[in-house]
Order: sequence, then structure tokens, then C-alpha cells
Amino acid sequence: MQKILVINGDTVSRQALSALLVAEEYAVIAADDGASGLALAQEHRPDLMVVQAELPDMEGHQLLETLQTCPDIAVVPCILISDRADMTDLRKSMDRGAADCLLQPFTHAELLSAIKTRLAKQAALAERYVTILRHTAERLNRLAHYDSLTDLPNHHLLYQRLSQAIKVAKAEQHCVALLSLSLDRLRQVNNILGFRAGDQMLQATAQRLSACLPKATTVARLTGNQFVVLISKFSDPKTIHEVADEILDCLSRPFSLPGQEVFATISIGIAIYPEDSEDVKEILRQADAALEWAKHQKSNYVQFYRADIPVVSSDAISLETALRYAVEREEFSLYYQPQMNTHSGLIAGAEALIRWPHPTEGYISPAQFVPLAEETGLIVPIGEWLFRKACTQIRQWQSIGLPPLQLSINLSSVQFNQPDLTELITDILHTTQLDPACLELEITETALMQDAEAAIAILKALKALGPRIAIDDFGTGYSSLSYLKQFPIDTLKIDNCFVRGVIADPKNQAIVKSVIQMAHSLDLTVIAEGIETEEELAFLADNHCDVVQGYFISRPLDATDMQACLTAQDPWSTIKGA
Ligand code: C2E
Ligand code: MG
Ligand code: MG
Repeated sequence: MQKILVINGDTVSRQALSALLVAEEYAVIAADDGASGLALAQEHRPDLMVVQAELPDMEGHQLLETLQTCPDIAVVPCILISDRADMTDLRKSMDRGAADCLLQPFTHAELLSAIKTRLAKQAALAERYVTILRHTAERLNRLAHYDSLTDLPNHHLLYQRLSQAIKVAKAEQHCVALLSLSLDRLRQVNNILGFRAGDQMLQATAQRLSACLPKATTVARLTGNQFVVLISKFSDPKTIHEVADEILDCLSRPFSLPGQEVFATISIGIAIYPEDSEDVKEILRQADAALEWAKHQKSNYVQFYRADIPVVSSDAISLETALRYAVEREEFSLYYQPQMNTHSGLIAGAEALIRWPHPTEGYISPAQFVPLAEETGLIVPIGEWLFRKACTQIRQWQSIGLPPLQLSINLSSVQFNQPDLTELITDILHTTQLDPACLELEITETALMQDAEAAIAILKALKALGPRIAIDDFGTGYSSLSYLKQFPIDTLKIDNCFVRGVIADPKNQAIVKSVIQMAHSLDLTVIAEGIETEEELAFLADNHCDVVQGYFISRPLDATDMQACLTAQDPWSTIKGA
């Protein structure tokens, strides 16, 4: 039964109205002034209120105003009835959310019709809210349990289904198998044909797997190129061999990707309950371990878990998972390490360095997560984030009149070989409006020497965009002098390891001196990194190193401290950073 609250200061009218509504089978509660009406509304949450506009303690529009400040009852529709035709008051009431206003004289039928219309609208609104809420809940549930690219169950749902399958298998005495498989060539597809092609390959793989396997099988996508097939009930081991063959067969047909047909090869690792373990997490790790083992054999290899196969610790798995979430939630922060020009003594540049303040593990060093980010391809979105953020920051410093700063950005080997790298940099320079001459791209010697001929072509394309190019960690790789001459580079960065302790080590002194001389004869700028003492700084300055970087000059600084450092540009002073 719908509940109506009548607020009216006139006893006769209130009783008459209440009687009319009771006769229409509404439940009625009544109050004789605004304050007690509001209190009753809070207590009973009526479906509708019929309020006399002129109350003993307040006007109708004042009651509506107070009503709107009570979150529990702000949505209760309110019909005002008034004895006076005061348009200003009526407008105020409508402005404050009155659902309807009736002026005396009006008939009972008109009042009842207004009430019915309003209640029907309210019911329709409530139904719409419920539908929206249901859809939102369904969407949230989907996001939490399904992979958005392939629409397959994700690791949460797989975990739930595996736990459930093992519970049933325990009770009914049968076996459960977990097949972990990876697409071996996804990385190359991403690198050569681009991420859209990689995504299409993953989607096609998901469709083929779902189509070729029995309906009761769960196919999930865990991370990157890894899928998992869960067979929740079997007793004959032959079944598992058949399923593995079926998977190899269905993925052996070529994938038609934009611009090219690609043949996939896969690796499969298998763990079985109860034979290998009775623990859900352990079975997942064993299947992964068997997969890793399979990947190191020939293509399309199927490996059942064996006790002598090393199982990867859960730490490594959780680091990768945490890194994926960190990318989604943009948990990284950006630091800048000042670089000092030894001729002028001024901070003329800064190297952008990424930091990962992990929410539970504390600070994680880039030395630890950059290799993992490279291995998983996550370095691409991370690198893009950093690139945009750093360029935007430098542009902002320029706009507030700070001294010009050369920004160095590290490009890992995966980023350097990304097919759309030049488009990405062009886009970033365009959106941030940063002059490319302010930018220096650091590529390690090792990354360049992986395929020196290809590197020359990429470097030329990058150089054409306008930034300077530096070889990072020079001296730790194996660059031949003939290549060094052909690389269109501007700067050599002498690695930390030659600089640290250079004062006490004559061999390092000889190396550093000859690198500086060679670089200058090739018309290159030299930056030495890792300067930790005043003596090291003096040695490098005496030997004509152009730029120095290291804890003695400054540790890497966050944007606020870097800005302060630029603001108080003070030649040859040491700036203590974070
Ligand atoms: P890198 O490019 O050679 O960067 C220099 C590293 O030396 C930085 O370590 C810096 O903090 C450290 N360093 C600077 N001065 C001194 C010093 O006086 N003494 C010592 N002991 N170390 C010093 P960080 O920030 O831990 O980075 C390590 C490496 O991680 C970097 O080496 C770079 O290869 C990689 N990395 C950092 N940020 C990024 C990034 O944004 N993108 C990519 N692709 N790689 C990055
Ligand atoms: Mg660097
Ligand atoms: Mg370096």
C-alpha cells in the first residue's frame, strides 16, 4: 500500500484530506506543521507528500528547501496545495523541487489525479533506477571477472572455477587438468605489425580455443600472451593428450592480420589434480612452470609437470601482476636528475627517471622492474606515459620562464624497436608543443648493437624529428668504432662503472680520458654519470668532460624539487636531492 504524508495546519482540511486518501486505499500519516512533518517524513519515508503551502511555522518553499538537505527523503515527491495565488511563492516552490502545485479551488478528482500521476512517474523512475543499477552491477561484475580484450574469464574467475572444480573432484574422486599455453610469437607481432595486430591475434586465438574445446571447458586469458584451459572432470589421461592435440591443431592455421598472414606456434604446460598437487595455487604455478619448460623446447611443445621442473616463486608472479595493475592505475612517478655543464657550472639538462612507489611493497627500483616491463611489453605504455608527462612538465617550466633545460629520456630496446615509435614521438611533440631540440633520447649501447644495421635506420628516422640522440651506458656493450661513426648520434654517456672510484683506478682513468678524447674527435658531447665525489667531478672537469651527472651534483628530484633547483640556479653549488 502506498504511503502519503499530509502536512496541513488546518485541522478540518487535514482530516478531510486524510479521509479522502484513506478511502482511495492509501496509507496516510499526517502532521500539523512543517517541523513535525519533516520529522515524520524521516521516520516513515512516505511515497509522496501533500503539503499545505501556508503552514503555521514555515512556508511551503522553506519546507522544500529543508527537505532537499535531507538525503534520505530528498527524492520524495511533494505536491503543494495553496489558498493564495501568489506566483512568487509558487515559483520558489517549483524551483525547490515541488512535483506539482494546486491552487484552491480544485476538485477532489483533480487532487487525486495529480497524486496518481506523480506516484506513477515515481514508480517508473524507480524501475529505471533499478534497471540502471542492475546493468551497472552486471558491467562491474564483467569487468572484475572477464578480460576486456577477449571476453574470456580472467585470472579471478579462473581461480574461482579451479577451486570449485577441485572441491567437486575431491568429493567425486576424479581428476582436474590445467593447461597453460602461450602464443610464442606475440611479441614479434606487436613489434613488427603493431599492437592492433597483436590484439587481433589474441582475439582470434580466444575465439578458436572457445570454438574447438568442449562447452564445459573453461578457457581463460591470464596475462599478455598466456591462456589457460581448465578441464574440470576427466578420468582417462588420454583425454588430456587429445585436448592438447586439439589446441595445437586449431591454432596451427594461419592468422590473417592486417598486412600479413602469421603462423602461430604455441607452448603448453600441464598440471593435474591430484597427481601433481591438491592445492589450487600450487597447480597454477606448476602449470606455469611446465609452460616455461615447454617454451625452451621446440615449437608446439607440450610439457606435463614433473617434480624436477623448477616452480617460479609466487613473488615473481605477483610482481608481474602488480606491474600490470600499476600501469592501469598509473602508479608511477617521475624524477629528474640534474645534469651540470662543466663549462658554465649551470644545470643545463635533466634525465627523466621513473620511480614505482608500490602501494604495499614500498619503493621498487627501475633496475628491478624495467627488465620485467621489457619482457612483458609493459614498457611501451609505461614509456609513453613517462614521455608525455616529462615533455608536458618541461614545457610548463619553459612557460613560467625557468632557464632552458635539455630533457633526456631513456628508450629501452623494446621501445626503440617499436614500429610506431616515430609517430608516437611526433604526436607527443605536437600535443605538448615542445621544441624537439630540447629533447635527448638515450639508447643503450647494448640495445643499438642487437642489430646495428636496423638501428642506423631507426636512429636516422628519430633524428629527422629533431631531438638529440645519446648512447647510454657507453663502455658496457660492444660497439665497434665503425658503427659509432655511422650512428647519427650527438652524445656519449660514460657508464657509472668507469666513473665510480676513478680516482683510485688508473685503468678507469685511462678509459675515461680516451672515451672523452675519442668522443670529441667525433664531434660528440660527453656526459659522465655516477659522479659521487668532489674529486671525481674535478677529474672529469679537468679532462674536459662536457656534462656531469651524479649524486654529488644532485640525486634524482621530484618535479617540485627540480623546479626549485632551476629557480635557484646557483653555479657549482651542490643540491641535495631525494
Ligand atoms: P641509466 O639510464 O643509466 O640511469 C642512471 C642511473 O644511475 C639511475 O638509476 C640514477 O639514479 C643512477 N645514478 C645517478 N647518479 C648516481 C650516482 O652518483 N651513484 C649511483 N650509484 N647511481 C647514480 P635508476 O633511476 O635506478 O635507473 C636505473 C636504470 O633504469 C636506468 O639507468 C635506466 O636504464 C632504467 N630506467 C630508469 N628510468 C627509466 C625510464 O623511464 N625508461 C626506461 N626505458 N628505462 C629507465
Ligand atoms: Mg639513462
Ligand atoms: Mg646510464
